[in-house]
Amino acid sequence: MASLSPVLTQSSSVLVDHAQGSWIYDASGEAYLDFSTGIGVTSTGHCHPRVVAAAREQVGKVIHAQATTVRHQPMFDFIGELSKVLPESLDSLFFSNSGSEAVESAIRLARMATGRPNIIAFQGGFHGRTMAAASVTSAGLHVRSGFGPLMGGVHFAPYPNAFRYGWSVDQTVEFCLDQLDFIFHTQTMPKETAAFLIEPVQGDGGYVRTPPAFLKGLRELADEHGIMLIFDEVQAGAGKTGRFWSHQLADGVTPDIMTMAKGIASGFPISAIAAPTAIMETAWPGSQGGTYGGNAVCAAAGAETLRVIADEHLVDNAGTRGEALGRLLAPLEDRFAEVGQARGVGVMRALEFVTPDGRPAPETAKAVLKAAEREHLLVLTCGPYGNVVRAVPALNVSAEEIELGAERLTAAVESVLG
Ligand code: PMP
Repeated sequence: MASLSPVLTQSSSVLVDHAQGSWIYDASGEAYLDFSTGIGVTSTGHCHPRVVAAAREQVGKVIHAQATTVRHQPMFDFIGELSKVLPESLDSLFFSNSGSEAVESAIRLARMATGRPNIIAFQGGFHGRTMAAASVTSAGLHVRSGFGPLMGGVHFAPYPNAFRYGWSVDQTVEFCLDQLDFIFHTQTMPKETAAFLIEPVQGDGGYVRTPPAFLKGLRELADEHGIMLIFDEVQAGAGKTGRFWSHQLADGVTPDIMTMAKGIASGFPISAIAAPTAIMETAWPGSQGGTYGGNAVCAAAGAETLRVIADEHLVDNAGTRGEALGRLLAPLEDRFAEVGQARGVGVMRALEFVTPDGRPAPETAKAVLKAAEREHLLVLTCGPYGNVVRAVPALNVSAEEIELGAERLTAAVESVLG
């Protein structure tokens, strides 16, 4: 009798039977308030009736219509809906199945478009577990360690996380931009650098917002040197930040290549890579995509997800409800020295736990996670040191659910830190 490999960790002890909206139920009917949303995936809540209906209808029509053999309408419908929210310049896209694959594809596209080998990624960034995606990831050793040699040509630059450095945001941005210049003089010349790859809001790295001035600085350097700017919107995209894409928090900065997944399809596995047509045209026909990319059921669910987000004004809801959650959690920072920072944007909210002398405290974060489960609240840990608890409710979370979630998380912190 085979069993599930222990390589898969489990942050809760819940065996889910069914789920609806912001709630997960086990077989005995216990209800858990879900502020983990499948790691930021179930954007319209669990089993939104419209998404369920769209998927059901599509399952009965055609499930798999392989996109390089025949085309199908749901893929074009999804492209149509994505066009309404994507930056105008990103007018060409194709689909894959996961965030990691989208990142792989973006790296390959950037190398092809520039004819250059090197990628500059940022410390604390998370981009996935496949080989290239793990090679540009530095949010934790678990996806890198022991798998080497990883893909070559990757250079990590300091990420402007002001809390970590203990500096002002302006100082941190200045330092990190200066470090890029240093990297250009010591590790990879601009003319051999294909891309900067960055999350506009770091996800697994700890829910850290990249300062707009840094994204602007990257855009300028990219333009100056013909380097592709890749924004990985896999986790922070699709409305979580109160803007449709997290890079829109830095008004006017657009990427050359963008990856998206998770929240774009409410839990159906589909990701996308978008770029201007001129960049897409540099890739050999057949060099991208795969068997399942753009699956008809996933695409139908994705198109309906985007319609629901628009019709129910869920981006605004995420902004408003997220700010409310932030306000309710903020006092924890003053009450407990071990809460180093309560931060976030939109529905991406984090508490970073530290020791009394300011060092990362992963054991505290883990204890809070467990205590939250006892309160019937599901949250997640993250951060390079594993010392951050993140809460990421669905975009359509209600005001009452936000209050209840904040109450339960506060009770969990109190029970651990007393
Ligand atoms: N990029 C980002 C920003 C992510 O947060 C993740 C997943 N946490 C990935 C890529 C990888 O996505 P997947 O797990 O779907 O491969």
